[in-house]
Amino acid sequence: MQFPQSLTPVVRKPAPLLEKVRFRARQAAGKFRRFVLANIQTEKADELLSLRQGECTRCGACCKIMFRCPFLIEHAGAPQGEIYSCGIYGQHFNQCRIFPLAPQDLEEIEEPCGYTFIEQPKADKAQASKR
Ligand code: SF4
Repeated sequence: MQFPQSLTPVVRKPAPLLEKVRFRARQAAGKFRRFVLANIQTEKADELLSLRQGECTRCGACCKIMFRCPFLIEHAGAPQGEIYSCGIYGQHFNQCRIFPLAPQDLEEIEEPCGYTFIEQPKADKAQASKR
């Protein structure tokens, strides 16, 4: 069906800038959430970590959330998994140690993470929502 020019439906795609702003806002909220869980609500963090599976492939993606961590060292030309290392490994921050804590954390990175999450058992879910 042809619409006259003035009646042509306008399909608005979200502007790339708006998408970027939303992504950065999600990253900022995630950083704050992980800081609280890693340093204050540590029991809750342990609970969430029990649902995590897999292992770190050292892709370095979580060290570039919002900004590139100044302690991230890049070994150019090294094989995959050895390209990145942490300059303060062993004394690094709790929130770095526990990444990712929940499936939504994986939406903040721009590369696939080596970790995945299993579903929380239903009985546990009901108890967790009462807390
Ligand atoms: S994003 Fe995942 S796999 Fe990559 S360095 Fe961080 S924890 Fe490891």
